[in-house]
This record gives sequence, structure tokens and C-alpha cells, in this order.
Amino acid sequence: MDTWHSIVRDSITTIDDLKKHFDGDFSALDDIITQYPMRINSYLVDLIKKHGSVIGRQFIPHPDEIQDTACTADPLAEEQLSPAPNLVHKYPDRVLLLVSGQCAAYCRFCTRKRIVGTAKMRITPDDLDAALRYIHSHTEIKEVLISGGDPLLLSDNRLAAILEKLRAIDSVEIIRIGSRIPATLPMRITCELVEMLGKFHPLYINTHFNHPAELTPEAEEACIKLADAGIPLGCQTVLLRGINDDAQTLQCLFRKLLKIRVRPYYLFQADLSLGTNHFRTTTDQGIAIMRQLYGHLSGMAIPTYALDAPGGKGKIPLTPSYIKQKGDILYFTNFLGEPCCYPEPRNFR
Ligand SMILES: *Cc1c(COP(=O)(O)O)cnc(C)c1O
Ligand code: SF4
Repeated sequence: MDTWHSIVRDSITTIDDLKKHFDGDFSALDDIITQYPMRINSYLVDLIKKHGSVIGRQFIPHPDEIQDTACTADPLAEEQLSPAPNLVHKYPDRVLLLVSGQCAAYCRFCTRKRIVGTAKMRITPDDLDAALRYIHSHTEIKEVLISGGDPLLLSDNRLAAILEKLRAIDSVEIIRIGSRIPATLPMRITCELVEMLGKFHPLYINTHFNHPAELTPEAEEACIKLADAGIPLGCQTVLLRGINDDAQTLQCLFRKLLKIRVRPYYLFQADLSLGTNHFRTTTDQGIAIMRQLYGHLSGMAIPTYALDAPGGKGKIPLTPSYIKQKGDILYFTNFLGEPCCYPEPRNFR
């Protein structure tokens, strides 16, 4: 058995396990973890002990999870937008294919909290074949985004079999894997895995780091290995109240990511997923943070701040509004707060 397998197997999954590692009153959490499973592996236990709540709140259950009256179970309407089991077809040219029901750790703010890690997310070979048939027969699908759960929690062989079947479909140009494993179980990024992934180019990986403390030497090594295999890496960060909702923390995170060749891709406004309301910030706060990043940080390190519209309506970019137009003249202030203007070409109106 690989080391990463045994690390996952020996994770904290019960309140008794949790009490062995952390102090606190966890008595109210039993009900929560029967509904929303807990999994905290030893790599993350060490990280929580070292950095405290900025990591701990992402993985240790909280009583607020069952006090949530603002959010809904499936805010992105993924179930309505699903033409085949575990397949979400929302945009014309790309689909989301869920290939794993499990993750290396369960994030308390997960968008698919209603199903991830539970028996509701069982992915059978028949289901997968049905999804692949749909992709095959819809030649407008140019990109398949493989997610879950975490696809990299599958064995190398199972993942390779899925990638092979996708590569056998001529109309599929791009394969993108979404995985939090570089942040939650970096030892899973083995040389064998990386070598296997390198056979399926053009293959992209979008990973998910939320706080600079997650960029340990192990996590950095995992990303560098993937980048060295020619896999372009992006990062989808979630804006989380009390964890990363300030410009300084995000600036530090995005700079560190760029250094290890991970390009910040999205900063997500938290979804309206039931049990996660306590993580939400306001969009005003998010936009104010973005305003403090533009100009002060390499453009390559600045992600698109976006909210995924409820009801499966798609991602909406949220950008600070810089421009006031008066007649033919645009007025704005730059990143230093200096006023400037730009005249539109008059003869083109
Ligand atoms: C987010 C998402 C995608 C990918 O969107 P990009 O803007 O290309 O990253 C595709 N399908 C679904 C269902 C999604 O939620
Ligand atoms: S790794 Fe992703 S899918 Fe898994 S629990 Fe965390 S946010 Fe959800």
C-alpha cells in the first residue's frame, strides 16, 4: 500500500479521534458529522497544530453548520443540469464530470457538501459509461472538467482508464482536472502519477489553496512536480470569512502560488451551499479586496473574482467599477488613487 493510502485510511473521522488530537468542546458535533462527514488526515492535523484556526476552521466541523437557514442544498442546480449521472452540462463547450465521491479531507465550506463523502455520491462504472456516451454524442463538448470529490484520490489505474476513454473521443480537446490534493495530501503527487498524467496532454490541473500557510514545502514540491510534467496549473481559491478575507493574506497567497508556477484563476465568492453560511463574506468586501490587489500585485497573480450564480446560471465576474462616463470622456482613479481620464474616439459614434 502506498503511504498516501494509509494516511487517508488513518484519518480522523470520529469525534473521539478528534478529541485525541485537539482540545475543545466537540460534544455538539456528532449530529453534524453523520450528515456531513469529517475527514482530517495526519498531514492536516500537523498543519492545524502549527497554524491554528485559519486551517482548522476549514476542516473541523462547527455547530453553525446545522444552524444555517440562508442557504440551499444544491445552489448551482447541478442536479437539474445533469443529462447523465454525475455529469453537469451548463456551458455550451464544456462539461463537468464527477468521477470520485471522496476527498483527502472534507472542507466544511464545500459546494457539494450535500453529497461529498456520503453514500449519495456513489459513482458506478455503468454511470461513468453513460456520461462518456453523452460526451461522445455531443461533439460541441470541447473540454471535460474532471472533478468530484477529488479525482486524484482514485488509484493511478482507475484514473488512467477514465483519461484513456476521454482521449478516445475525438471532439474532446482539453482535459482539466480539479483537485485539492496538492493542498490536502501532497504526498499523493507521486512520480508515477505525474508520469501517467503527462501522457494525456493537453491536460490542465486547477488546484485549490485558500491560505498561504497551506503552501508547505511538501505542497510546493507537489505543484512543481506537476508543472515540470508540462501541466499548466491554476488555483481556485474560495473567499472565506475569518480565514482569507483580507488583501494582505490573499496577496501573500497569490504571490507564493505564482512562484511555484500556479496561476491564480478564480477567487470564488462562497456559494449558497446549505451548512456553509457562516463562511460567507459580502461581495462589497470581496470587491474592496480586489481593488487593493490591482496594480499592487503582478497581473499574473490576480484571479477573477467571481460568483457562481444560484440556479446554475453560470459564473459572474465581480470587478471593482473604476469608470464614470460623462459624454465622450471616461473618468477613473488609478491604483494609487490618482484621477485620470480617457476620451472616446468621437468620429466612431
Ligand atoms: C465552473 C464550471 C465550469 C468551468 O467554468 P470555467 O469558467 O471555464 O472555469 C464548467 N462547468 C460547470 C458546470 C461549472 O460549474
Ligand atoms: S476538496 Fe473540494 S470537493 Fe472535496 S470537500 Fe473540499 S471543496 Fe469539496
